[in-house]
Amino acid sequence: MKLGVLTSGGDAPGMNAAIRAVVRQADALGHEVYGIYRGYQGLLDGDMAPLATRSCANILQRGGTILRTARCPEFHQPERRADAAGRLKAVGIEALVIIGGDGSFRAAEALSREHGIACAGIPGTIDNDLPGTDRTLGFDTALNTAVEAIDRIRDTASSHGRLFLVEVMGRSSGILAVHTAIACGAEAVLYPESPDDTYEALVSQLHANWIRGKRSSIVVVAEGDGVGNAMAVGARLEGDYGLDLRVVVLGHIQRGGSPSALDRIWGSRWGSEAVLRLARGERDFYLGEVAGAMAAQPISRVLDPHPVPAKDLGALVSVLAR
Ligand code: ADP
Repeated sequence: MKLGVLTSGGDAPGMNAAIRAVVRQADALGHEVYGIYRGYQGLLDGDMAPLATRSCANILQRGGTILRTARCPEFHQPERRADAAGRLKAVGIEALVIIGGDGSFRAAEALSREHGIACAGIPGTIDNDLPGTDRTLGFDTALNTAVEAIDRIRDTASSHGRLFLVEVMGRSSGILAVHTAIACGAEAVLYPESPDDTYEALVSQLHANWIRGKRSSIVVVAEGDGVGNAMAVGARLEGDYGLDLRVVVLGHIQRGGSPSALDRIWGSRWGSEAVLRLARGERDFYLGEVAGAMAAQPISRVLDPHPVPAKDLGALVSVLAR
């Protein structure tokens, strides 16, 4: 069997571990793997080449993706997906392993439904917001990166008795923000799915902490929060109360870096499992972790509503900030 593997959408630490496992598990079973470069854009351009086991040496511990990644708006057009399927068939690739997030899996779902390409998805996104899995590649690493950065900011916040607003990634998901807030003992967290994180609620929370004698605070803000991003919330607080606050946008610091042990382990397990299942004739699924165990979902499950941060976690942030 000839397999293709691609990484698509935002890069996430652990993607290389998954690529390596796909290539080496396939090699162990006697299958051939083609690396497709720059995600669906590379597939459309025919940018692909066989990947030997040796070409995956020394990548397990590296962030990013050796296959590179891209966003490819053209892939939303059915005609372009037909071109992509044609590219795969011309090379004799029967099955595709897609390492990416929600959008990448939607593309895979369309490719399999419209053109019969067998697809296996490996969840790769630092947002951890896919249905049917407790974990996605990169989340654990990004969480630890954000926490380490905020621990440093905390030293300055307490030394100066200052308010810091720290923006973490998450355009439509607050899962990273909420977990970061718990792990670094933030005083408040603002995230898109929270119904009650209004500007007024934030002000009263910070005020209550001040009355209790707290002189420094850290507010974690998900970039897509409805109240505004960290810059906007900071400007409003400065304008309204003349606070001497600081805004830090962690931005792309969170995306890269050497993957955590957990991201390496799950990347390796998922890469191998994808190949084992495809070799058994299974198709059109994506892998995940449910309650600590390997799990698989039909690829169409990506169309389900996405998980949101557990409500009790958001509430816990304020309780523990007292
Ligand atoms: P992620 O996979 O990290 O969620 P994106 O949402 O940017 O990242 O999706 C990656 C790529 O997948 C897009 O650039 C596009 O090529 C393709 N894609 C996303 N959504 C769809 C869709 N609904 N139909 C077809 N292709 C899609």
